[in-house]
Amino acid sequence: MKIVILGGGVIGVSAAYFLGARGHEVEVIERKDTSARETSFANGGQLSFCHAEPWANPAVFPKIVKWMFKDDAPLVLRPRADMEMIKWGLKFIANCSKSRAQANSVTLLRLGLYSKKKMEWFRQFSGVKFDNLREGILHIYSDEQEFENAIAQAKFQDRFGAPAEIADYNKCVHYEPMLEHAGNPIKGGIYQPLDESGDPFTFTQALAKLCQSEYKAVFHYNTDIKFLDTEGGRINSVVTDKGVFKGDAYIMSLGSYSPLYLRPLGIHVPVYPMKGYSITFPANHYTPKMSLTDTEHKIVYSRLGDRLRIAGTAEFSGYNTKIRPERVAPIARAVRALLPKCEYDKPESEWACLRPSTPDGPPIIGKTKYNNLYMNTGHGTLGWTQAAGSATLITDIIEGRPTEISLDGMGVDRF
Ligand SMILES: Cc1cc2nc3c(=O)[nH]c(=O)nc-3n(C[C@H](O)[C@H](O)[C@H](O)COP(=O)(O)OP(=O)(O)OC[C@H]3O[C@@H](n4cnc5c(N)ncnc54)[C@H](O)[C@@H]3O)c2cc1C
Repeated sequence: MKIVILGGGVIGVSAAYFLGARGHEVEVIERKDTSARETSFANGGQLSFCHAEPWANPAVFPKIVKWMFKDDAPLVLRPRADMEMIKWGLKFIANCSKSRAQANSVTLLRLGLYSKKKMEWFRQFSGVKFDNLREGILHIYSDEQEFENAIAQAKFQDRFGAPAEIADYNKCVHYEPMLEHAGNPIKGGIYQPLDESGDPFTFTQALAKLCQSEYKAVFHYNTDIKFLDTEGGRINSVVTDKGVFKGDAYIMSLGSYSPLYLRPLGIHVPVYPMKGYSITFPANHYTPKMSLTDTEHKIVYSRLGDRLRIAGTAEFSGYNTKIRPERVAPIARAVRALLPKCEYDKPESEWACLRPSTPDGPPIIGKTKYNNLYMNTGHGTLGWTQAAGSATLITDIIEGRPTEISLDGMGVDRF
């Protein structure tokens, strides 16, 4: 089959590689001059297969009210007359109940554990190197109540196959000795041994090259998609500024921009851009070796070879990727507090981009009402983590094979 993939981020390129390995002819359309230049460029680097707590949960709802309009809060809402944002927000609130959060957790975990297994395949089959660390992730807590909530979530997840160790302060330092110098008090941690980290940009770039050299996939870079042309319940072609592209099937993987191209087709998906930031420092003697999550500040740390990537914060302000110093400053402050010995002052680089977020958490993977248009989008905070599993699922769906895991909670129809 000839398959046209819209978008060359980690989601589009992972699918291109898997489809190529299954013998399909693949074309990828991407507006940037190379792959992974938008949200897949400098994210937190965590392959957090077992991090299955959605943002929409009972504990976050009261906090949102407290955080609202505070410029250095982990989550900031900039109210605007934007119906899509309002509709998304109402769906988010509806998913904050305990029962909805647990159901969404189970879906995220199913996809996360499947992605772990499929990432193993990608790593071995492709041989790509991406500063991959497979030492687990340690989530650290400085608030007693947050720690207790996390223990309850870890116990819940354990029932679904995600092991976790509850660690006291000494155990946290045992896992990551650099925490001995932490400026913040650490009440305890949750260690998730199956989790990993790695550089999504290096991974995606390497995979795109392999797609071209091994599977003769064609990447149309610097090509801006304008719209999808339809005819009789099917997609007829993709119209771009460089001409028209045709295939037997089309996959929507435009990240946060997906809904803008689906709406004219009468497909309404609540994927909204959630802006986040990252900063990167060169590693030094006091830089942590393993991946950490500072839950109080909602910030993640990943060691990517000789660099330390720190990412976090969420801001709802539409399609705006401008770097605002007042949003970078709290991240830098949190780093200085946790790792004072690193003496980090000015980051090597600062970056901001948009997470393609659904209000309940899981992505949208599956068929649409057009019988040759498929979705693989809306991966939110976990797109790097879920790329390998999502690529395999979308390939099976297009080929009409039964998927290895249930797609419950991932379809378009859930909205
Ligand atoms: C600060 C931050 C930290 C994060 N940390 C993590 C983490 O630690 N672990 C994790 O798993 N996930 C993390 N994420 C989330 C993850 O980065 C995303 O879920 C993932 O990158 C989404 O990939 P994508 O391919 O769907 O989107 P993108 O990478 O944005 O790809 C979509 C592509 O479509 C292209 N495109 C858009 N419109 C057009 C058009 N009209 N024509 C042609 N091309 C177009 C874009 O150029 C882009 O390349 C983080 C995100 C952010 C912002």
